[in-house]
Amino acid sequence: MKDPIYVTRPSMPELTEYIDEIKDIWASRRLTNKGPKHQELENLLKEYTGNANVSLYTNGHMALESVIEALELSGEVITSPFTFVSTTHALVRKGLKPVFCDINPDFYTMDANKIEDLVTEKTSAILPVHVYGSICDVDAIKNIADKYKLKIIYDAAHSFGVKVEGIDAGNFGDFSMYSFHSTKVFNTIEGGALFYSDGRMKDRLDSIANFGIRDEENVDYVSGNAKMSEFQAAMGICNLRHIDGQICARKDIYNRYKENLDGLKGVVLKEDQVGVQSNYAYFPVLFKEDLCGISRDEVYDGLAKEHIYARKYFYPLVSRMPCYSQRGFNSDTPVAEYISKEVLCLPMYADLSNSDVDRICMAIRNLLD
Ligand SMILES: *Cc1c(COP(=O)(O)O)cnc(C)c1O
Repeated sequence: MKDPIYVTRPSMPELTEYIDEIKDIWASRRLTNKGPKHQELENLLKEYTGNANVSLYTNGHMALESVIEALELSGEVITSPFTFVSTTHALVRKGLKPVFCDINPDFYTMDANKIEDLVTEKTSAILPVHVYGSICDVDAIKNIADKYKLKIIYDAAHSFGVKVEGIDAGNFGDFSMYSFHSTKVFNTIEGGALFYSDGRMKDRLDSIANFGIRDEENVDYVSGNAKMSEFQAAMGICNLRHIDGQICARKDIYNRYKENLDGLKGVVLKEDQVGVQSNYAYFPVLFKEDLCGISRDEVYDGLAKEHIYARKYFYPLVSRMPCYSQRGFNSDTPVAEYISKEVLCLPMYADLSNSDVDRICMAIRNLLD
């Protein structure tokens, strides 16, 4: 039997590198609550992104909930249904109404031409997603937000390391939320961060991540616990040392997939964005059944028979999930609908071997024949 190939595999440093990094934690007995590793990772991330305003979290989802709390958002938020459930859950759990905007068919990000029609007097913010690391139309979104005085929070969970004309993706909108979950391009085991444009938000955000505590005798906000521990930060410090090499390795895999799959009838690869230096986070492929003669689900099942585990990522749309489908949120997003029925994310991680990429592509070619 051939070895299974999973859709992703976390990046890890050498064990000895991590052990060296965590030795300090035994010396300091600082395990969490903004210890030295936390501070060091914040500093390294400031350098890496060129954004001096950063706060770390125990995961990306809590980062998202925290910024919603910090901004005291209310009413409606325009967002994308073509995402991981976390994006919508954060809104609904904080009492907001998600208003789903359709996506564009080339990059699967929010279609900026369709946002304005969804703005009402209740709209307080826009929450677009740099899905698969594709960057949203940040200029158009900013114009709309300025016109209607809306906040912009990017779900940048997929876009660590992406650069737009040399500028790191963590510099757009009022806030960018990152996930450092094990399956993301850069991980801290579990983890997340917010990058933001207004440095005055720092104290409030850090307090909200820690029960709203200002000091021993003063608690300012009714909030939960979203702190990153020293062990998570130590993992981040190690992984950040290797991030450039990891992204290069992903690029080689991406190119090999492209060479193998380009030109297959009915098999559509995501376009490259002009001026964008990608992080090659995912390898989404559309299978157009009327052209390639086989549905996405048949490809998924056929690959699974070969022990290749791709993911129907993102299917169903968040708006179609049982927890949302009966709640009366709008779901008229036809482009997102058909993309979600055709898309399949093929295995993509930094140490996926060339021979595994070839095996995956050969299996797809065999299924199409
Ligand atoms: C991973 C992810 C999140 C949630 O991040 P966690 O760190 O797992 O909490 C949110 N949005 C998107 C698009 C994601 O992929």
